[in-house]
Amino acid sequence: MNEVVLMGDKYVPSSEATIGVRTMGFNSGWSVFEGIRAYWNDAEEQLFVFRLPEHLERLRNSAAILHMELPGTTMDLVERCRGLLERNGLREDSYLRPIAYKGLPIKLGVNLLDATDEFLAYCFPQGRYLPTERTLHVGVSSWVRIQDNAAPARAKIGGTYVNPALAKTDGLLQGFDDSLMLTSEGTVAEGTTSNLFVVVGGELVTPPSTEDILVGITRGTIMEIAREELGLTVRERVIDRSELYSVQEAFLCGTGAEIASIGRIDGRQIADGTIGTITRRLQELYAGIVHGKNPKYRHWCTPVHQNAYPTPELELSDTVVK
Ligand code: PMP
Repeated sequence: MNEVVLMGDKYVPSSEATIGVRTMGFNSGWSVFEGIRAYWNDAEEQLFVFRLPEHLERLRNSAAILHMELPGTTMDLVERCRGLLERNGLREDSYLRPIAYKGLPIKLGVNLLDATDEFLAYCFPQGRYLPTERTLHVGVSSWVRIQDNAAPARAKIGGTYVNPALAKTDGLLQGFDDSLMLTSEGTVAEGTTSNLFVVVGGELVTPPSTEDILVGITRGTIMEIAREELGLTVRERVIDRSELYSVQEAFLCGTGAEIASIGRIDGRQIADGTIGTITRRLQELYAGIVHGKNPKYRHWCTPVHQNAYPTPELELSDTVVK
């Protein structure tokens, strides 16, 4: 089946999904986006989108920072995204990318209000982003995380992804699987497209939202299930760089990364270098939850192949499938 893309409120073949060369989202990085995963459940023959409304709410918050409005309520957008996945007929783990962006400029300059607000989304099959069956070797990057009052890390702004891209690329060129980024104060912020958790004294520790992190939806999920299902104490507190080298366990987490165990940091082995007990239990729990197999957390999974969220007021054009 040919790929279908959502452009505003229309589903179009990908060959027709084009943007103009003057689009500000492209020229100056004035865009906000989300990375969302959908998981295929074989037994139910169903594709479940993980925490879709939460992602779209974060998109709305990111958009507000750039003086941008989304075209509809969160539930309208849930339905548009669900429809997109359905029309693409995906029957495997997949990735969904909605983008709200500034379109053609009314005047040249850097006034965010001088351009139109646009919206699009596309999706594609996606397996692992980072290996989860082995541990990673990560390095602390010399590129520091952008500061909140320079360009907010809490928003997924297209242009600001130059920052983790530099850290990731240079880390890979140095032979690491991924990079950890410090704040401009020198404390630990996060991975390049993931949040960091460490285990210290049997407790789960992660940097707070004031440490120039993207407040990850996976991070929130892990904090909740670690407390609820594993009875762990979870602390949000500042982590020094040197503390990283003596933790009991460490892992990265994110929509793409899922839960990826860290076995070495800057060449120093973490515990015995294998996937830690708490990390492994969280990986197992998480895999069940995202595939819609855990009834307690089923409300986090939006089924694609049924009309779970009717939005009669929205005029959706028919899919054009060639
Ligand atoms: N930090 C950054 C910089 C990211 O890009 C991501 C991926 N969205 C994350 C953390 C993890 O966030 P989430 O769990 O919401 O995917």
